[in-house]
Amino acid sequence: MTALFLRNKTITPVAGLELDQTQRMLLAVLCCLPLMEFGREGLHGWSELVVYPDAFRVQRSHIDAAGVLHEWDDELIGESWDSGPLILSWADVQADIADPHAGFCVAVHEMAHKLDALDGAMDGTPPLPRDWQRQWAHDFQHSYDQFCAQVDAGEETAIDPYAAEAPEEFFAVVSEYHFSAPALLEQQMPLVAAHLRRFYGPR
Ligand SMILES: [Zn+2]
Repeated sequence: MTALFLRNKTITPVAGLELDQTQRMLLAVLCCLPLMEFGREGLHGWSELVVYPDAFRVQRSHIDAAGVLHEWDDELIGESWDSGPLILSWADVQADIADPHAGFCVAVHEMAHKLDALDGAMDGTPPLPRDWQRQWAHDFQHSYDQFCAQVDAGEETAIDPYAAEAPEEFFAVVSEYHFSAPALLEQQMPLVAAHLRRFYGPR
């Protein structure tokens, strides 16, 4: 799968970053980690991995209901566009590798968004057989609602509170835990952990 990734995806280091063959392979391995069970269809729909040396700034804009244009800067360590490039911060990829059981893996996070978007809707549910998708949506919604209530109440959470941002972020964040802290995820959200074991393969 890694060989396929390296053959089919253009890896573009930007902003002065240089990547050697070993570093490119490492990126490919991390991006393919979530595809071991899902398979090569998980690589469909996009062609480029852009790698920044560090966290990067992006300009956001939004026109609100009153027609007013809002613009602001966001600092990101990863980004995944619908059918566009997957973008990673090399410093954060290295930090994930240096501390592999901390619950973070930005490459897995962005690949989860890619898998989520395969069915045309970035909503926290990747393409699945019908019955499983129904069960997944039910169990994820339940865990997401519970988690959001905890975060809203100001409770300390074992899982990164960024997961409360949106259902698609919830899926991407728990995917990181599946690969880097599966015991913690199992203890906190056993139903979600079981779906992810089936989706990504056992850890
Ligand atoms: Zn995300």
